[in-house]
Amino acid sequence: MIIDFHTHVGEREHYFGSFASDLQRSWADVRWEGRTLDEHRAAVQNVDRAVVLAFDAPASGFVVPNDYVAEYVAEQPDKLIGFASVDPNRPDAHDRLDQAILGLGLRGVKLGPIYQHFDPTSPAAIEFFQHIERLDVPVLIHQGTTFVRDAPLRHARPWLLDEVATACPDLRMWIAHLGHPWCDETMVVLRKHPNLYADVSALHTRPVQLYQALNAAVEYRVTDKLLLGSDYPFSTIEETLQAVRDVNAVVAGSGFPPIPDDVIDGIVHGERHLAALGLG
Ligand SMILES: [Zn+2]
Repeated sequence: MIIDFHTHVGEREHYFGSFASDLQRSWADVRWEGRTLDEHRAAVQNVDRAVVLAFDAPASGFVVPNDYVAEYVAEQPDKLIGFASVDPNRPDAHDRLDQAILGLGLRGVKLGPIYQHFDPTSPAAIEFFQHIERLDVPVLIHQGTTFVRDAPLRHARPWLLDEVATACPDLRMWIAHLGHPWCDETMVVLRKHPNLYADVSALHTRPVQLYQALNAAVEYRVTDKLLLGSDYPFSTIEETLQAVRDVNAVVAGSGFPPIPDDVIDGIVHGERHLAALGLG
């Protein structure tokens, strides 16, 4: 079973401000003016399950609404798993969260402190995480860097989640992109906290970093907590699978230890992770 734990939807109308010019500046080869739902349907054709993310980040220039995602995932309820997003800075954030989970039936929450401009260790943020914990749904959190300019790096370090996981021990959460480039921080919080995981998405263009991160996961013995994810449209599931399966190419003949085959298989076949995250 192939599960893509990280896919985005979002059309041109969902992006505003400097997001498009930031993308152009950082990824000269990427032309992205949003994607249609038909393009997303095609992108997930070859996976068994896919997490589909809303994204409520007005501070960084994109808002993909919860009802847009809820309506789309209702087309294929056995395959698509819709995640809500709520900017915790909104005055009615807690009500919006209830509406998205209890009203729309979305099954998890996407947060990005770097994009939503909040400190995940602040008292208000911890209360928000505790609310999610009470709702008993998982969180995909972007702890890691970005090309977006209006996005404070100080909120982005993976180790900030140590305080969140300590305050919310039953909250199931995974870190996007292995927390790049702070992948070692990701491994140490994964080792400390039983309900923390990380996905390998969007690292296919950085094969050396992907190898180093997976090697750190082997050394810290947290390989069972790594999830497959593409970060579509920034990468496809095919590109991601190829990068993970070919991860040892960058160290061939070097003397560096290869990532074991069973670790690679464990990332590619993630059925057990669905159950662990409460998404089975
Ligand atoms: Zn993403």
